[in-house]
Amino acid sequence: MRIILLGPPGAGKGTQSRTITKKLGIPHISTGDILRQASSQKTPLGLKAKNYMDRGHLVPDDLMINLIKERIKREDCKKGFLLDGFPRTIPQAEALEKISHIDKVIKLRIESEVAVERLSGRRTCKDCGAMYHVIYISPKREGICDKCGGELIIREDDRKEAILERLEVYREETRPLIKYYEKKGLLVIIDGGRAKQEVTGDLLASI
Ligand code: AMP
Repeated sequence: MRIILLGPPGAGKGTQSRTITKKLGIPHISTGDILRQASSQKTPLGLKAKNYMDRGHLVPDDLMINLIKERIKREDCKKGFLLDGFPRTIPQAEALEKISHIDKVIKLRIESEVAVERLSGRRTCKDCGAMYHVIYISPKREGICDKCGGELIIREDDRKEAILERLEVYREETRPLIKYYEKKGLLVIIDGGRAKQEVTGDLLASI
C-alpha cells in the first residue's frame, strides 16, 4: 500500500504516521525528519535546507524531488510506504506521479487555532524526534524523552512567527493538492482534531 498523509502542520501527521506504519509494516517516510537529521549532521542537503526550515519556508522542489526519488527506490519500499510531508506542492505531486503509483491520499483536517495550540506547546526530542506537549503529553521526567533519554527542545520552526508562516505556506502551496487528489479519486478526509486513538482507528479503517 502506497499512502500519502496530507494536512496542515499540527494536524498529527507525524504521530499518526508512526503508529499506523508500525501496524502496517511499511516504512514511514517523513521528509521533515529526513531534513532535520541531515541538518543536525550538517550534510550538504541539511545545510541548504536549514535556512528554509527555520523560517517555516519550503525547501526547493528539485531538492525534495531528488530526495524522495532516492528514498523510495530502496528495498524496504517494495511492499509500500507512507509519505508524511511529501508532496507539498503541485510540482512535487506531478513528479511523484512519474516515479510511483499511489493508492490512497488521506487528509487530516484540523482548525487553524487547534494547529497553533498544538504546535506552540510542542516539545520534540533532540535525538529521536519523539513529540510531547506541555499540556497534553508530558514526559515522565521534565525535559527528558521517555523513549531515549534525549533532551526535549522547542523546534526552531515551532516558534510563533514560524508557525504562522508554515500555516500560510500550507494554505498557498499545499492546500491545492486536496483538489488535485480529489479529482483523481484518491482522497479521503479524516477529522484530525479528535483524540489520538480515534483518529488512528479511522485511519486504519480507511486503509
Ligand atoms: P515537517 O516536519 O513535515 O513539518 O517539515 C518541516 C520542514 O521541512 C518544513 O516546514 C519545510 O521547511 C521542510 N519540508 C519538509 N517536507 C518538505 C517538502 N515536501 N517540500 C518542501 N519543504 C519540506
